[in-house]
Amino acid sequence: MSKNVYLENLGCAKNQVDAEVMLKILKDRGWTHVQEVGKADLVIVNTCGFIEPAREESVNTFFSLKDLNPHAKFIMSGCLSQRYAHNLDLPEADAIFGNRDLSALNKVIDEMEAEEKTGDDHQIVVAPEYPDPDDDAYKRDEILNFTGSAFLKISEGCNHWCSYCAIPVIRGSLRSCAKFQILDEAKRLIAHGIKEINIIAQDLAAYGTEWDEKSHFLELLSDLYALGGDVKYRLLYIHPDAFPVELIDFVKTHERVFPYFDIPVQHVAKHLLRSMGRTGDSATYLSLVNKIRASLPTAVIRTTIMLGYPGETEEDFEEVLHFVKQARFDWLGCFVYSREEDTKAYDLVDEKTQKENEKAGARRKAAIEAEQEKITSERLEERFVGNVYDVLIEEKIEGEDLSIGRIYSQAPDVDGATVVMGRNLLPGMVVKAGIRGVNGVDLDAVVLEDYNG
Ligand code: SF4
Repeated sequence: MSKNVYLENLGCAKNQVDAEVMLKILKDRGWTHVQEVGKADLVIVNTCGFIEPAREESVNTFFSLKDLNPHAKFIMSGCLSQRYAHNLDLPEADAIFGNRDLSALNKVIDEMEAEEKTGDDHQIVVAPEYPDPDDDAYKRDEILNFTGSAFLKISEGCNHWCSYCAIPVIRGSLRSCAKFQILDEAKRLIAHGIKEINIIAQDLAAYGTEWDEKSHFLELLSDLYALGGDVKYRLLYIHPDAFPVELIDFVKTHERVFPYFDIPVQHVAKHLLRSMGRTGDSATYLSLVNKIRASLPTAVIRTTIMLGYPGETEEDFEEVLHFVKQARFDWLGCFVYSREEDTKAYDLVDEKTQKENEKAGARRKAAIEAEQEKITSERLEERFVGNVYDVLIEEKIEGEDLSIGRIYSQAPDVDGATVVMGRNLLPGMVVKAGIRGVNGVDLDAVVLEDYNG
Protein backbone atom coordinates (compact mmCIF):
# COMPACT_ATOMS: atom_id res chain seq x y z
CA MET A 1 0.00 0.00 0.00
CA SER A 2 1.79 3.16 -1.12
CA LYS A 3 1.54 5.64 1.60
CA ASN A 4 0.05 9.02 1.03
CA VAL A 5 -2.47 10.19 3.61
CA TYR A 6 -4.81 13.16 3.43
CA LEU A 7 -6.47 14.31 6.67
CA GLU A 8 -9.50 16.59 6.95
CA ASN A 9 -9.92 17.87 10.48
CA LEU A 10 -13.27 19.14 11.74
CA GLY A 11 -14.50 20.42 15.10
CA CYS A 12 -12.57 21.90 17.99
CA ALA A 13 -8.93 22.44 18.92
CA LYS A 14 -8.91 19.19 20.92
CA ASN A 15 -9.85 17.30 17.76
CA GLN A 16 -7.03 19.06 15.93
CA VAL A 17 -4.48 17.83 18.46
CA ASP A 18 -5.82 14.29 17.92
CA ALA A 19 -5.37 14.76 14.16
CA GLU A 20 -1.76 15.87 14.72
CA VAL A 21 -1.13 12.78 16.90
CA MET A 22 -2.64 10.48 14.22
CA LEU A 23 -0.38 12.04 11.57
CA LYS A 24 2.64 11.34 13.78
CA ILE A 25 1.58 7.71 14.23
CA LEU A 26 1.25 7.33 10.44
CA LYS A 27 4.49 9.16 9.77
CA ASP A 28 6.27 6.77 12.13
CA ARG A 29 4.92 3.99 9.90
CA GLY A 30 6.37 5.63 6.79
CA TRP A 31 3.32 7.51 5.56
CA THR A 32 3.48 10.92 3.87
CA HIS A 33 0.98 13.63 4.69
CA VAL A 34 -0.29 15.13 1.43
CA GLN A 35 -2.33 18.34 1.09
CA GLU A 36 -4.30 17.25 -1.98
CA VAL A 37 -7.02 14.64 -1.50
CA GLY A 38 -6.56 13.45 -5.07
CA LYS A 39 -3.00 12.31 -4.28
CA ALA A 40 -4.02 10.24 -1.24
CA ASP A 41 -4.14 6.46 -0.83
CA LEU A 42 -5.79 6.93 2.54
CA VAL A 43 -8.20 9.70 3.56
CA ILE A 44 -8.99 10.35 7.22
CA VAL A 45 -12.02 12.48 8.04
CA ASN A 46 -11.60 13.51 11.69
CA THR A 47 -15.16 14.24 12.64
CA CYS A 48 -17.07 16.28 15.21
CA GLY A 49 -20.12 14.64 16.79
CA PHE A 50 -21.07 17.23 19.40
CA ILE A 51 -24.36 18.53 17.97
CA GLU A 52 -26.52 17.81 14.91
CA PRO A 53 -25.14 20.53 12.58
CA ALA A 54 -21.58 19.30 13.30
CA ARG A 55 -22.58 15.70 12.58
CA GLU A 56 -24.17 16.72 9.29
CA GLU A 57 -21.06 18.67 8.30
CA SER A 58 -18.91 15.62 9.10
CA VAL A 59 -20.95 13.26 6.91
CA ASN A 60 -21.20 15.81 4.07
CA THR A 61 -17.45 16.36 4.19
CA PHE A 62 -16.88 12.61 4.05
CA PHE A 63 -18.97 12.23 0.89
CA SER A 64 -17.53 15.29 -0.84
CA LEU A 65 -14.01 13.94 -0.30
CA LYS A 66 -15.14 10.49 -1.41
CA ASP A 67 -16.37 12.07 -4.67
CA LEU A 68 -12.97 13.72 -5.15
CA ASN A 69 -11.07 10.47 -4.62
CA PRO A 70 -13.30 7.36 -4.83
CA HIS A 71 -10.29 5.01 -5.07
CA ALA A 72 -8.66 5.87 -1.74
CA LYS A 73 -9.30 4.03 1.52
CA PHE A 74 -11.40 6.07 3.95
CA ILE A 75 -11.24 6.21 7.74
CA MET A 76 -13.98 8.07 9.62
CA SER A 77 -12.32 9.07 12.91
CA GLY A 78 -13.10 11.49 15.74
CA CYS A 79 -16.11 12.17 17.93
CA LEU A 80 -18.87 11.04 15.57
CA SER A 81 -17.09 7.68 15.21
CA GLN A 82 -16.48 7.36 18.95
CA ARG A 83 -20.09 8.22 19.77
CA TYR A 84 -21.78 5.94 17.21
CA ALA A 85 -18.97 3.47 16.45
CA HIS A 86 -21.15 0.37 16.38
CA ASN A 87 -24.25 1.87 14.79
CA LEU A 88 -22.92 4.27 12.20
CA ASP A 89 -24.61 3.35 8.94
CA LEU A 90 -21.75 4.31 6.63
CA PRO A 91 -20.66 1.31 4.54
CA GLU A 92 -18.66 3.71 2.33
CA ALA A 93 -16.08 4.03 5.12
CA ASP A 94 -13.39 1.33 5.17
CA ALA A 95 -12.88 1.94 8.87
CA ILE A 96 -14.65 3.61 11.79
CA PHE A 97 -12.07 4.76 14.34
CA GLY A 98 -12.95 6.32 17.72
CA ASN A 99 -10.78 8.80 19.60
CA ARG A 100 -10.31 7.49 23.10
CA ASP A 101 -7.14 5.57 22.26
CA LEU A 102 -5.33 7.13 19.34
CA SER A 103 -2.52 4.55 19.40
CA ALA A 104 -5.15 2.02 18.28
CA LEU A 105 -4.85 3.62 14.83
CA ASN A 106 -1.98 1.14 14.37
CA LYS A 107 -4.51 -1.68 14.75
CA VAL A 108 -6.72 -0.13 12.05
CA ILE A 109 -3.80 0.22 9.61
CA ASP A 110 -2.58 -3.32 10.39
CA GLU A 111 -6.04 -4.68 9.56
CA MET A 112 -6.26 -2.59 6.40
CA GLU A 113 -2.86 -3.78 5.20
CA ALA A 114 -3.81 -7.39 6.04
CA GLU A 115 -7.03 -7.02 4.05
CA GLU A 116 -5.07 -5.75 1.07
CA LYS A 117 -3.23 -9.04 1.04
CA THR A 118 -6.29 -11.26 1.57
CA GLY A 119 -8.66 -9.21 -0.56
CA ASP A 120 -11.08 -9.35 2.37
CA ASP A 121 -13.23 -6.20 2.44
CA HIS A 122 -15.22 -5.88 5.66
CA GLN A 123 -15.59 -2.58 7.52
CA ILE A 124 -13.08 -2.22 10.38
CA VAL A 125 -14.49 -0.73 13.61
CA VAL A 126 -12.03 0.23 16.36
CA ALA A 127 -13.31 2.41 19.21
CA PRO A 128 -11.75 1.32 22.52
CA GLU A 129 -13.55 2.46 25.68
CA TYR A 130 -10.37 3.59 27.43
CA PRO A 131 -6.90 4.60 26.26
CA ASP A 132 -3.97 2.21 26.61
CA PRO A 133 -2.33 3.81 29.69
CA ASP A 134 1.13 2.90 28.46
CA ASP A 135 0.88 4.45 25.06
CA ASP A 136 2.67 7.68 24.54
CA ALA A 137 0.11 8.80 21.98
CA TYR A 138 0.89 12.30 22.85
CA LYS A 139 3.74 13.19 20.59
CA ARG A 140 3.24 15.29 17.47
CA ASP A 141 5.69 16.72 15.01
CA GLU A 142 3.38 18.36 12.54
CA ILE A 143 1.21 21.22 13.85
CA LEU A 144 -1.86 22.04 11.77
CA ASN A 145 -2.09 25.64 13.04
CA PHE A 146 -0.59 28.58 11.20
CA THR A 147 3.18 28.84 11.69
CA GLY A 148 4.25 29.89 15.16
CA SER A 149 1.15 28.80 17.09
CA ALA A 150 0.11 25.44 18.54
CA PHE A 151 -2.48 23.88 20.85
CA LEU A 152 -1.33 21.97 23.94
CA LYS A 153 -4.00 19.62 25.30
CA ILE A 154 -3.55 18.90 29.02
CA SER A 155 -6.48 16.56 29.63
CA GLU A 156 -9.22 14.63 27.89
CA GLY A 157 -12.84 14.10 28.85
CA CYS A 158 -14.82 15.97 31.52
CA ASN A 159 -16.34 15.31 34.95
CA HIS A 160 -18.72 18.27 35.00
CA TRP A 161 -21.44 16.42 33.06
CA CYS A 162 -23.38 19.61 32.28
CA SER A 163 -26.87 18.38 31.49
CA TYR A 164 -26.91 19.57 27.84
CA CYS A 165 -23.40 18.43 26.92
CA ALA A 166 -22.49 15.27 25.00
CA ILE A 167 -18.73 15.65 25.47
CA PRO A 168 -18.46 13.42 28.54
CA VAL A 169 -20.57 10.87 26.64
CA ILE A 170 -18.12 11.00 23.71
CA ARG A 171 -14.75 11.69 25.32
CA GLY A 172 -15.42 10.00 28.65
CA SER A 173 -14.66 11.14 32.17
CA LEU A 174 -11.73 13.43 32.94
CA ARG A 175 -8.25 12.03 32.26
CA SER A 176 -5.48 14.54 32.96
CA CYS A 177 -2.24 13.95 31.07
CA ALA A 178 0.84 13.26 33.15
CA LYS A 179 2.71 16.48 33.86
CA PHE A 180 6.00 15.14 32.44
CA GLN A 181 4.27 14.37 29.13
CA ILE A 182 2.86 17.92 28.93
CA LEU A 183 6.21 19.50 29.81
CA ASP A 184 8.02 17.29 27.27
CA GLU A 185 5.52 18.26 24.60
CA ALA A 186 5.87 21.95 25.47
CA LYS A 187 9.66 21.65 25.27
CA ARG A 188 9.27 20.10 21.80
CA LEU A 189 7.00 22.94 20.67
CA ILE A 190 9.35 25.60 22.03
CA ALA A 191 12.31 23.86 20.35
CA HIS A 192 10.27 23.91 17.11
CA GLY A 193 10.14 27.72 17.36
CA ILE A 194 6.49 27.94 18.44
CA LYS A 195 5.80 31.48 19.71
CA GLU A 196 2.29 30.95 21.08
CA ILE A 197 1.07 27.90 23.00
CA ASN A 198 -2.71 27.71 23.46
CA ILE A 199 -3.38 25.48 26.45
CA ILE A 200 -6.64 23.55 26.01
CA ALA A 201 -8.92 21.14 27.84
CA GLN A 202 -12.66 20.88 28.44
CA ASP A 203 -11.94 22.81 31.65
CA LEU A 204 -8.32 23.85 32.35
CA ALA A 205 -9.02 24.37 36.05
CA ALA A 206 -10.11 20.73 36.41
CA TYR A 207 -6.55 19.56 35.63
CA GLY A 208 -5.65 16.79 38.06
CA THR A 209 -8.89 16.96 40.07
CA GLU A 210 -9.57 13.30 39.37
CA TRP A 211 -6.37 12.47 41.24
CA ASP A 212 -7.13 14.08 44.59
CA GLU A 213 -10.07 16.45 44.03
CA LYS A 214 -7.66 19.38 43.94
CA SER A 215 -6.88 21.46 40.87
CA HIS A 216 -3.23 21.12 39.85
CA PHE A 217 -3.56 23.64 37.02
CA LEU A 218 -1.60 26.49 38.64
CA GLU A 219 1.26 24.11 39.46
CA LEU A 220 1.31 22.92 35.86
CA LEU A 221 1.18 26.47 34.49
CA SER A 222 4.00 27.47 36.79
CA ASP A 223 6.15 24.52 35.59
CA LEU A 224 5.36 25.33 31.97
CA TYR A 225 6.36 28.95 32.54
CA ALA A 226 9.60 27.81 34.16
CA LEU A 227 10.60 26.14 30.86
CA GLY A 228 11.41 29.64 29.67
CA GLY A 229 11.93 30.31 25.96
CA ASP A 230 10.53 33.00 23.69
CA VAL A 231 6.98 31.70 23.96
CA LYS A 232 3.66 33.10 25.21
CA TYR A 233 0.81 31.08 26.72
CA ARG A 234 -2.94 31.47 26.15
CA LEU A 235 -5.51 29.78 28.38
CA LEU A 236 -8.63 28.45 26.66
CA TYR A 237 -11.76 27.21 28.48
CA ILE A 238 -12.13 27.63 32.22
CA HIS A 239 -15.44 26.64 33.79
CA PRO A 240 -16.82 29.76 35.54
CA ASP A 241 -17.99 27.87 38.64
CA ALA A 242 -14.48 26.52 39.30
CA PHE A 243 -12.49 29.57 38.23
CA PRO A 244 -9.26 29.66 40.33
CA VAL A 245 -9.08 33.34 41.35
CA GLU A 246 -5.39 32.94 42.24
CA LEU A 247 -4.89 32.61 38.48
CA ILE A 248 -5.53 36.36 38.15
CA ASP A 249 -2.46 37.16 40.25
CA PHE A 250 -0.44 34.55 38.41
CA VAL A 251 -1.22 36.18 35.08
CA LYS A 252 -0.48 39.61 36.57
CA THR A 253 3.00 38.50 37.64
CA HIS A 254 3.88 36.34 34.60
CA GLU A 255 4.02 38.50 31.49
CA ARG A 256 4.36 35.57 29.08
CA VAL A 257 0.84 34.41 29.98
CA PHE A 258 -1.64 36.42 27.94
CA PRO A 259 -4.33 38.20 30.02
CA TYR A 260 -6.89 36.30 27.95
CA PHE A 261 -9.70 34.41 29.65
CA ASP A 262 -12.24 32.15 27.91
CA ILE A 263 -14.99 31.52 30.50
CA PRO A 264 -18.16 29.99 28.99
CA VAL A 265 -21.03 31.05 31.32
CA GLN A 266 -23.79 29.59 29.08
CA HIS A 267 -26.58 31.54 30.82
CA VAL A 268 -27.35 33.59 33.98
CA ALA A 269 -30.93 32.59 34.82
CA LYS A 270 -30.56 30.68 38.08
CA HIS A 271 -33.20 28.00 37.44
CA LEU A 272 -31.66 27.24 34.03
CA LEU A 273 -28.12 27.07 35.40
CA ARG A 274 -29.25 24.70 38.13
CA SER A 275 -30.97 22.54 35.52
CA MET A 276 -27.72 22.60 33.51
CA GLY A 277 -25.84 21.38 36.58
CA ARG A 278 -24.13 24.70 37.18
CA THR A 279 -23.91 26.71 40.40
CA GLY A 280 -23.37 30.31 39.28
CA ASP A 281 -25.63 33.29 38.64
CA SER A 282 -25.54 36.75 37.13
CA ALA A 283 -24.03 38.48 40.18
CA THR A 284 -21.28 35.87 40.65
CA TYR A 285 -20.26 35.95 36.99
CA LEU A 286 -20.32 39.74 36.86
CA SER A 287 -18.15 39.99 39.97
CA LEU A 288 -15.66 37.52 38.43
CA VAL A 289 -15.45 39.66 35.28
CA ASN A 290 -14.98 42.82 37.38
CA LYS A 291 -12.38 41.15 39.58
CA ILE A 292 -10.32 40.16 36.55
CA ARG A 293 -10.60 43.63 35.01
CA ALA A 294 -9.79 45.41 38.27
CA SER A 295 -6.53 43.49 38.57
CA LEU A 296 -5.71 43.21 34.85
CA PRO A 297 -6.91 46.30 32.92
CA THR A 298 -5.67 44.82 29.63
CA ALA A 299 -7.54 41.54 30.22
CA VAL A 300 -9.61 40.15 27.34
CA ILE A 301 -12.61 38.01 28.24
CA ARG A 302 -14.51 35.67 25.93
CA THR A 303 -17.65 33.76 26.84
CA THR A 304 -20.36 31.52 25.41
CA ILE A 305 -24.13 31.89 25.78
CA MET A 306 -26.68 29.15 25.06
CA LEU A 307 -30.25 30.03 24.16
CA GLY A 308 -33.38 27.90 23.87
CA TYR A 309 -32.53 25.57 26.75
CA PRO A 310 -35.65 23.75 28.06
CA GLY A 311 -37.62 26.01 30.38
CA GLU A 312 -36.12 29.27 29.12
CA THR A 313 -38.68 32.11 29.31
CA GLU A 314 -38.76 35.56 27.74
CA GLU A 315 -37.80 36.94 31.19
CA ASP A 316 -34.76 34.64 31.29
CA PHE A 317 -33.77 35.92 27.89
CA GLU A 318 -34.17 39.54 29.02
CA GLU A 319 -31.99 38.72 32.04
CA VAL A 320 -29.15 37.28 29.97
CA LEU A 321 -29.38 40.11 27.43
CA HIS A 322 -29.11 42.59 30.30
CA PHE A 323 -26.09 40.65 31.64
CA VAL A 324 -24.37 40.78 28.24
CA LYS A 325 -24.89 44.56 28.15
CA GLN A 326 -23.46 44.90 31.67
CA ALA A 327 -20.48 42.53 31.30
CA ARG A 328 -19.42 43.88 27.90
CA PHE A 329 -17.33 40.82 26.95
CA ASP A 330 -14.67 41.32 24.32
CA TRP A 331 -15.77 38.18 22.46
CA LEU A 332 -18.93 36.11 22.77
CA GLY A 333 -20.05 32.94 21.00
CA CYS A 334 -23.77 32.13 20.96
CA PHE A 335 -25.46 28.74 20.41
CA VAL A 336 -28.97 27.35 20.34
CA TYR A 337 -29.50 24.38 22.64
CA SER A 338 -29.26 21.03 20.80
CA ARG A 339 -31.25 18.17 22.32
CA GLU A 340 -28.59 15.46 22.62
CA GLU A 341 -29.18 11.74 23.26
CA ASP A 342 -27.64 10.29 26.44
CA THR A 343 -27.48 13.71 28.09
CA LYS A 344 -29.37 14.53 31.30
CA ALA A 345 -31.41 17.30 29.63
CA TYR A 346 -32.58 15.09 26.75
CA ASP A 347 -35.88 14.11 28.41
CA LEU A 348 -36.72 17.61 29.64
CA VAL A 349 -38.66 18.27 26.44
CA ASP A 350 -40.08 16.26 23.57
CA GLU A 351 -39.14 16.78 19.92
CA LYS A 352 -42.14 19.06 19.25
CA THR A 353 -41.31 21.41 22.13
CA GLN A 354 -37.64 21.31 21.14
CA LYS A 355 -38.60 22.58 17.68
CA GLU A 356 -40.45 25.51 19.29
CA ASN A 357 -37.53 26.16 21.65
CA GLU A 358 -35.12 26.15 18.70
CA LYS A 359 -37.17 28.83 16.95
CA ALA A 360 -37.27 31.00 20.08
CA GLY A 361 -33.57 30.25 20.67
CA ALA A 362 -32.62 31.34 17.17
CA ARG A 363 -34.50 34.63 17.56
CA ARG A 364 -32.87 35.30 20.94
CA LYS A 365 -29.44 34.31 19.57
CA ALA A 366 -29.78 36.89 16.80
CA ALA A 367 -30.65 39.58 19.34
CA ILE A 368 -27.66 38.73 21.58
CA GLU A 369 -25.31 38.63 18.59
CA ALA A 370 -26.54 42.03 17.37
CA GLU A 371 -25.92 43.53 20.81
CA GLN A 372 -22.51 41.86 21.12
CA GLU A 373 -21.39 43.03 17.69
CA LYS A 374 -21.80 46.63 18.88
CA ILE A 375 -20.00 45.90 22.16
CA THR A 376 -17.09 44.12 20.44
CA SER A 377 -16.40 46.90 17.96
CA GLU A 378 -16.76 49.59 20.67
CA ARG A 379 -14.28 47.75 22.88
CA LEU A 380 -11.87 47.24 19.97
CA GLU A 381 -12.04 50.97 19.22
CA GLU A 382 -11.68 52.18 22.82
CA ARG A 383 -9.06 49.64 23.95
CA PHE A 384 -6.69 48.93 21.06
CA VAL A 385 -6.56 51.79 18.52
CA GLY A 386 -3.45 53.92 18.93
CA ASN A 387 -1.55 51.26 20.90
CA VAL A 388 1.44 49.15 19.89
CA TYR A 389 1.41 45.35 20.16
CA ASP A 390 3.38 42.25 19.23
CA VAL A 391 1.65 40.64 16.26
CA LEU A 392 2.20 36.97 15.42
CA ILE A 393 2.13 36.91 11.61
CA GLU A 394 0.12 33.97 10.27
CA GLU A 395 -0.22 34.48 6.53
CA LYS A 396 0.81 36.90 3.82
CA ILE A 397 -1.78 38.37 1.45
CA GLU A 398 -0.34 37.58 -2.00
CA GLY A 399 0.58 40.61 -4.12
CA GLU A 400 0.08 43.07 -1.26
CA ASP A 401 2.28 44.52 1.50
CA LEU A 402 -0.33 43.11 3.83
CA SER A 403 -0.26 40.15 6.22
CA ILE A 404 -2.75 38.65 8.63
CA GLY A 405 -1.75 38.02 12.21
CA ARG A 406 -3.01 38.03 15.79
CA ILE A 407 -2.24 39.98 18.93
CA TYR A 408 -2.71 38.70 22.52
CA SER A 409 -6.43 39.52 22.49
CA GLN A 410 -7.16 37.31 19.47
CA ALA A 411 -7.32 33.53 19.93
CA PRO A 412 -6.87 31.25 16.88
CA ASP A 413 -9.95 30.39 14.80
CA VAL A 414 -12.58 32.07 17.03
CA ASP A 415 -11.70 35.80 17.38
CA GLY A 416 -10.96 38.60 14.91
CA ALA A 417 -7.48 39.09 13.42
CA THR A 418 -5.04 41.92 12.80
CA VAL A 419 -4.29 43.00 9.24
CA VAL A 420 -0.76 44.39 9.20
CA MET A 421 0.71 46.66 6.57
CA GLY A 422 4.44 45.99 6.11
CA ARG A 423 6.93 44.42 3.72
CA ASN A 424 8.86 41.18 4.04
CA LEU A 425 6.69 39.85 6.85
CA LEU A 426 6.78 36.07 7.09
CA PRO A 427 4.45 33.60 8.85
CA GLY A 428 5.77 32.83 12.33
CA MET A 429 7.40 36.24 12.76
CA VAL A 430 6.44 38.37 15.79
CA VAL A 431 6.51 42.03 14.77
CA LYS A 432 5.73 45.30 16.58
CA ALA A 433 2.82 47.13 14.99
CA GLY A 434 0.68 50.16 15.78
CA ILE A 435 -3.11 49.72 15.66
CA ARG A 436 -4.60 52.45 13.49
CA GLY A 437 -8.21 51.33 13.17
CA VAL A 438 -11.00 48.76 13.46
CA ASN A 439 -12.59 46.97 10.54
CA GLY A 440 -15.60 44.95 11.75
CA VAL A 441 -14.08 42.54 14.32
CA ASP A 442 -10.55 42.92 12.90
CA LEU A 443 -7.82 45.45 13.67
CA ASP A 444 -5.83 47.38 11.07
CA ALA A 445 -2.18 47.88 11.92
CA VAL A 446 1.06 49.12 10.45
CA VAL A 447 4.42 47.60 11.22
CA LEU A 448 6.81 49.88 13.15
CA GLU A 449 10.12 48.55 11.89
CA ASP A 450 11.47 47.60 8.46
CA TYR A 451 11.89 43.88 8.04
CA ASN A 452 14.36 43.09 5.32
CA GLY A 453 13.07 39.53 5.16
S1 SF4 B 1 -17.66 21.67 31.27
FE1 SF4 B 1 -17.83 21.89 29.08
S2 SF4 B 1 -17.17 19.92 28.22
FE2 SF4 B 1 -17.61 19.61 30.39
S3 SF4 B 1 -19.70 18.88 30.43
FE3 SF4 B 1 -19.74 21.10 30.76
S4 SF4 B 1 -20.01 22.00 28.72
FE4 SF4 B 1 -19.38 19.86 28.45
